[in-house]
Amino acid sequence: MGNRPSEHSDRAWHELTAQQALDALHSTPGGLDSEQARVRLQQHGANRLPPPQKRGPLLRLLYQFHNVLLYLMLGAALIAALLGHWVDTAVILAAVLINVVIGFIQEGKAENALNAIRDMLSPHAMVRRDGERHEIDAEQLVPGDVVLLVSGDKVPADLRLLSVKNLLVEEAALTGESVPVEKSVAHCRQDAALGDRRCMAYSGTLVSSGQASGLVVATGADTELGRIGAMLQQVQALSTPLLRQIEQFSRWLAVIILVLALATFILGTFWHGQNPGDMFMMVVALTASAIPEGLPAIMTVILALGVQRMAGQNAIVRRLPAVETLGSVTVICSDKTGTLTRNEMTVQRVVSAERVLDVSGVGYAPEGAFHLDGQLQEPDHALLETARAAQLCNDARLQQDAHGHWRLHGDPTEGALLTLALKSGLDIQALQAQLPRSDAIPFESEHRFMATLHHDHAGQGLVYLKGAPERLLDMCASQRLADGSDAPLDADYWRRQATDLAARGLRLLALASKPAAASQRTLNFSDVETGLTLLALVGIIDPPREEAIAAVAECQQAGIRVKMITGDHAETARAIGAQLGIGIGLPAMTGAELELLDDRRLREVLPGVEVFARASPEHKLRLVQAMQDSGEVVAMTGDGVNDAPALKRADVGVAMGHKGTEAAKEAAEVVLADDNFATIAGAVREGRAIYDNLKKFILFALPTNGGQALIVIFAILFQAVLPLTPAQVLWINMVTSCTLGLALAFEPSERGLMQRAPRAPDEPLLSAFFVWRVLMVSVLIASAGIGLFLWELELGNSVESARTIAVNAVVMCEIFYLFNSRSLLGPVLSREGLLGNPAVPLTIALCLVLQLLFTYAPPLQGVFGSESMSADEWLRVLLAGVTLFVVAELEKCLVRRCGLHARPT
Ligand code: ATP
Repeated sequence: MGNRPSEHSDRAWHELTAQQALDALHSTPGGLDSEQARVRLQQHGANRLPPPQKRGPLLRLLYQFHNVLLYLMLGAALIAALLGHWVDTAVILAAVLINVVIGFIQEGKAENALNAIRDMLSPHAMVRRDGERHEIDAEQLVPGDVVLLVSGDKVPADLRLLSVKNLLVEEAALTGESVPVEKSVAHCRQDAALGDRRCMAYSGTLVSSGQASGLVVATGADTELGRIGAMLQQVQALSTPLLRQIEQFSRWLAVIILVLALATFILGTFWHGQNPGDMFMMVVALTASAIPEGLPAIMTVILALGVQRMAGQNAIVRRLPAVETLGSVTVICSDKTGTLTRNEMTVQRVVSAERVLDVSGVGYAPEGAFHLDGQLQEPDHALLETARAAQLCNDARLQQDAHGHWRLHGDPTEGALLTLALKSGLDIQALQAQLPRSDAIPFESEHRFMATLHHDHAGQGLVYLKGAPERLLDMCASQRLADGSDAPLDADYWRRQATDLAARGLRLLALASKPAAASQRTLNFSDVETGLTLLALVGIIDPPREEAIAAVAECQQAGIRVKMITGDHAETARAIGAQLGIGIGLPAMTGAELELLDDRRLREVLPGVEVFARASPEHKLRLVQAMQDSGEVVAMTGDGVNDAPALKRADVGVAMGHKGTEAAKEAAEVVLADDNFATIAGAVREGRAIYDNLKKFILFALPTNGGQALIVIFAILFQAVLPLTPAQVLWINMVTSCTLGLALAFEPSERGLMQRAPRAPDEPLLSAFFVWRVLMVSVLIASAGIGLFLWELELGNSVESARTIAVNAVVMCEIFYLFNSRSLLGPVLSREGLLGNPAVPLTIALCLVLQLLFTYAPPLQGVFGSESMSADEWLRVLLAGVTLFVVAELEKCLVRRCGLHARPT
């Protein structure tokens, strides 16, 4: 003990035999005890990679300036300064600075949100400590620990393998090689390359199949992964297709503004012969008015807030673009067990060769008995042997906690079998001591059975098997009778019984056994293919989740089809599907039937099938591809290592947080912390809401710039006095986007959001409708600004007071337009429409206070050249706002009536 990391980190572990490695770390195949582990954890520190080098705050702040729009503003400030317009220079610089600070703070917030999500994805490891198996946080691992690996696990630390069984490891994370490598325990030469060290499993690589145990030889930064300094990216950077579209849009906008500004300048100075200095200030005003500085920052906030909300509702988004894709999902393919059902299993029926017994009791508590037509029955020989098989061919553990509740560690199907064994009166401990396990073939969805080999103390061998009845019936030759004797297998009887159980929605499992030679110490597929004796069929109930029933209905209303893909029996799947509202009146298709169809035929029949039974992961992949070829946008759930290809291929791969393997989580875009189907429906709802809010914000923000640009262009074209000075334009931009626009980030989802059809995935953001709406509102805002400006001059008032009115008119229009923007097409003249988002009145109040300061506070009057306004003037400004509100609502009404927009809201 007491090995400092440095003592061992350079050691060639692959060169040592397993025993030498154990000795070097003072460990045993049974692992450490908890005291040793505690001491070593203190010495070596947690098994985590140092966080990636972050940019320092100063660099991050400077990075905020890296934006074309801000470059333009800085250029304008420089020229304004050269011309001696100090106030304008200062205001432009202040606007740039405010934007940079907002960007800086928001980026920090968004990153924190993502970091929190990253923490929710921290992996676990199965270790042997104190002679028992424990599941612990992978961060708690120390050198000397013995870790158990199964397929789908991510290797949690660098391991010297102690025992392997068909272990294949995918080491792409380390070597770039995506073909899985077969591992063994034999030590290798000292100069073996990383990819050739067969007896090692390195941190961050994925177990694609098989099982193993391994000794932890390096943790945290000492692992190979830590040494190459690679931080496995769990959550991607803050960008989505929509944000990239906006970034591109900003770049184009910058070019257009530059060209326009240059053209205006040349036109004004050389053609109209205006003073270049005045002309330049006009151009600066135009540039400032047209640049939507706040756009990228606030869009990022909307996205980050949405992702945080989703995480709060148990949907962890690993790749941000999924947020947008979620909104256009047309089909959700879901697993059944645990996602649509509760995964709390109880055996309700046991069918043996001679009788059908009902089992009483619910849950994992071993309280219940066996009944035949209501009469209590004593377990017979066949039932006791069934219970023995159920107990021994099993990896789960039941434990009674301090409150007397029975807790399950392991697979719920196996838990149900343990409870059954206890109900039959079996002494589990005694049985385990009497028939210790020599080898096992673990359960996999592909082969749908599990087998174990046991030997009693006289050396007599025995194989137990449990699995899907269709699979086991092919392997059995005989059946066990009540008196313990065997008879030839009556396959028809069993099939009838299986169909009967399945039609009741029960999950089926058959149990069988076979004697083995004393010399047989390992178990292979060829050992269990024939000659088994069928003991019994059990029917397990797994009730649907209440919330899943509601969520399925919600999805169907939202134009999203829900398909169930399960490994269960077709009849069971249909019966459960019917309870959930999936595939009612439609045939179920089995994996075998699916294999008979070619791609074209599959695409034809797909719309008519909602329940797929006895399906394996490859079928999932084929289904996703076929649906995508038919133009569907597919969300697919999965948990096993073999589900990874289907999850990757799906538009939105959804992995289970609890029962999902690390391989599945790595392949998925979204991880469900609660494995619940209702969470997927919630994520789709949230995805739609976020996209809506982004659209609403853009529709709100762009007309502010459009309106102001039109006002300036008007002045240039008609050689009038500028109704807005550059400083005033920047004031408006800041006030509206920092207060009003932000309110839309908190916009709750619209009612009826889940009654709309899914958004077409290729729907462009800047559709014709969008451009029309921006233009219309820009013109309205510009008319209000110019109209009130000219009116004020007409009345003989000063340019300063006319400008103050123009500024207030533009802001007032924005205030009213904020209400319109709460719904893209729906009316907002209702209690809900006006008060539904508390952020709206709050930001409006803030905005009004700022406007009052702008109008009346002497220091601001000094900077912006504003003047106090009379009640009459305020009334006119108010009227301008109301007019815009009414016109915008009328336009929505017209669009709704005439169906000019594709999607009714
Ligand atoms: P899902 O609906 O999420 O696909 P599922 O549990 O229905 O999950 P699988 O886990 O692939 O699908 O199980 C398929 C069949 O294999 C079950 O119907 C059952 O007969 C059998 N089975 C399930 N778990 C075990 C197990 N631990 N040991 C042996 N057989 C099992």
